[in-house]
Amino acid sequence: MIGAFEGIDGAHSQLVLDAYFRARELPGQTLGTRTFRDAAMAVSSGRAELGIVPIDNTTTGTVQDGYDLLFEFDLVPVAEISWRMEHRLLGVAGAALRDVREILAHPMVLAECGKFITSLTSARAIPCEDTGVAAREVARRGEAQLAAIAPPSAAAKYGLAELSPNIANHPDNLTRFLIFRARHAKPEVFALDSGGPRKTSLFLATKNISGAMVRCLEPLAQGQMSVTKLESRPQPRVTDRAEFHLDVLGDLLAPEQAQTLARLRDNALEVRVLGSYRADAPVAAQTASLPVFSTTVVRDRRPPPPPPPLQNGSSTPRVMRDARPEGTRIRVGNVEISDDTFTIIGGPCSIESREQIVATACAVRDAGGNMLRGGAFKPRTNPYSFQGMGWDAVDLIAEAGRVSGMPTVSEVMSIDQVEGMARSIDVLQIGTRNMQNFDLLRAVGRAGKPVLLKRGMSATIEELLAAAEYILAEGNPNVMLCERGIRTFETATRNTVDLSAVPVLRERTHLPILVDPSHGVGVRRWIRPMCRAAKAVGAHGIIVEVHPNPPEALSDKEQAMTFEDFADVCRDLARIPLFESEPVAAR
Ligand code: PEP
Ligand code: MN
Repeated sequence: MIGAFEGIDGAHSQLVLDAYFRARELPGQTLGTRTFRDAAMAVSSGRAELGIVPIDNTTTGTVQDGYDLLFEFDLVPVAEISWRMEHRLLGVAGAALRDVREILAHPMVLAECGKFITSLTSARAIPCEDTGVAAREVARRGEAQLAAIAPPSAAAKYGLAELSPNIANHPDNLTRFLIFRARHAKPEVFALDSGGPRKTSLFLATKNISGAMVRCLEPLAQGQMSVTKLESRPQPRVTDRAEFHLDVLGDLLAPEQAQTLARLRDNALEVRVLGSYRADAPVAAQTASLPVFSTTVVRDRRPPPPPPPLQNGSSTPRVMRDARPEGTRIRVGNVEISDDTFTIIGGPCSIESREQIVATACAVRDAGGNMLRGGAFKPRTNPYSFQGMGWDAVDLIAEAGRVSGMPTVSEVMSIDQVEGMARSIDVLQIGTRNMQNFDLLRAVGRAGKPVLLKRGMSATIEELLAAAEYILAEGNPNVMLCERGIRTFETATRNTVDLSAVPVLRERTHLPILVDPSHGVGVRRWIRPMCRAAKAVGAHGIIVEVHPNPPEALSDKEQAMTFEDFADVCRDLARIPLFESEPVAAR
């Protein structure tokens, strides 16, 4: 069984995973990944059966990203482990504390040892990816002025000496980790830690009015469930909604608590249960005498194995509606694409200059748009047509996104662009011509960024879903589909917008569906009515082309809308009510 963690050999998370496997006498192996997000994707894709993420710490509090990752990747907690973090200052053999000028550690670890670090007046803190990397770096450079904060086991692993014993701010520096699995896991993983004393973690949103929280907690009291954690989520602005992370002792998902959960849902604005998990995981907190790792470290396995069979018996099980009946919610910065929202994406076909993209971004935002689009690499039919400004344009749209406060969408055309684009762009677009470029689909599946997948101009709905399955299979659940028009015998419009694909897809898949009427009709004045139709038929959003001066646009000028056109579209859309999905049972 493979467990994924963030870091390299010697990381705290690896130690905890290792101890978890050992306590259960499981033949475990650990898979080091670059980030927690990569660890989540490894589990979501089936390349690892379990993963680990820190969720809170005695000194630094809740790790919001930990919760967010589990929700985003639809991962289910299996067990919690409270681990005493033994932070030692490690240096090369022969070095002394007074020699130390630079201290390398994971940012969380630096925070947990803040008091000690400030007491060393001539040393400065250097954040690095993880504990293992810090220790390895000190060993590699072999300089007396370098030190790492790491557990004693890392000292043994990298041949370092201890310059100072436990240096955490808090004598009982505990980090609570969650071990997690994929929702649709193999039976042997499903069965892990399914009994024992339990805890349930949930996300709760209440109205921002007095008494709202008390009303939410009442059913829990009546269900005899005690609250062990209640923490508000930081929100960028005051709204009429307050959000919390909540842990309760007991299994809120057990049949006997169905009433409690139902009443809690009635009283709250939103309740999302992360899962119920074993709360007394029989793993001793770390002690001073440390084991040598009992697990073997494995390298990434590829390609991902097929998923465990879901009940739907489909050949593309991950995209099917019943894999996530409640529908996928995609968070991109401050925007959510889901059944509860309608997302408007606007921007030029191609990014042409700083002035052009920044002006368009501000106009799109001011009119009510939610996200900025713009092509840097353009798939043009003719090799002599404008091919896009390339990497310069990537920097420009990222800047326009920051200036306007909107997330960005841009097309990635080849595998070698994926990593660089993923660093700067919030949503990676796969164009119609690349819908079946399977290696590219795999690459964006591993990029850790949401993907906007356009329907191939001659692709069936089934082929579109199979293309999305490629991305999900790599561990990336954040895919939005886009109907952008298909080729038919009709030549009056550039393509034929297949609006009937929207209700069909709504029924078949849990993924959100966008409509791109710009490439669909190809003529400015026909875009506005198609936007209205898209919302009315149940799309989750639209993506349209907007340009400060359409006649001068370097690509697709016939279909570029002016800022005024775009504002008209936004006004129209605001008047159309959000589509109400039929209850699942009615399908
Ligand atoms: C685009 O959105 O700029 C684009 C090229 O779209 P499509 O791939 O749908 O033609
Ligand atoms: Mn275009």
